Amino acid sequence: MVDLARRGFFRGRPRPRAEIRPPWALAEAAFVDACTRCDDCRTACPQGIVVAGDGGYPTIDFQRGECTFCGDCARACTSGALRHDDAVSPWSIRARIGDACLAAQGVECRACGDHCDTRAIRFTPRLGGPALPAIDDDLCTGCGACVAPCPSAAIALR
Ligand code: SF4
Ligand code: SF4
Ligand code: SF4
Repeated sequence: MVDLARRGFFRGRPRPRAEIRPPWALAEAAFVDACTRCDDCRTACPQGIVVAGDGGYPTIDFQRGECTFCGDCARACTSGALRHDDAVSPWSIRARIGDACLAAQGVECRACGDHCDTRAIRFTPRLGGPALPAIDDDLCTGCGACVAPCPSAAIALR
């Protein structure tokens, strides 16, 4: 197999850290090859959640808001790095709740569930403590609406 990196193919264009790309992005390696870092997707996003990430490649910052899957970012992309197609799932990321969750530490909190339009966050009652949240991967769209409202920054998209 030809080692393109050793032959200097990527010289001058270092591989950026893998981050969450805008919806309808190509697979990471193909995305990095195609993306020209023109910023068109960033300026097109009405939610303001597309930001310049490592190396200037676009990434999503869910602390700024949620993705509505409007498709504006992908339609603005002329390089082919983002390819809007309503028939194709925009991405496969899903919300994950970490150990910092307040409910897991005995503090009543349902902020994430209150912001989830698809009701993907279910709270299971338990003896001796507040109900615990859990993500239903089949209902979660990866929109990120639950991320910013979480007071303990316990939710990440993976
Ligand atoms: S689909 Fe819409 S809301 Fe989501 S990142 Fe793209 S432009 Fe922003
Ligand atoms: S909003 Fe955060 S702290 Fe509150 S229940 Fe959800 S994950 Fe836990
Ligand atoms: S990412 Fe969106 S759909 Fe998934 S749990 Fe959070 S708010 Fe609900």
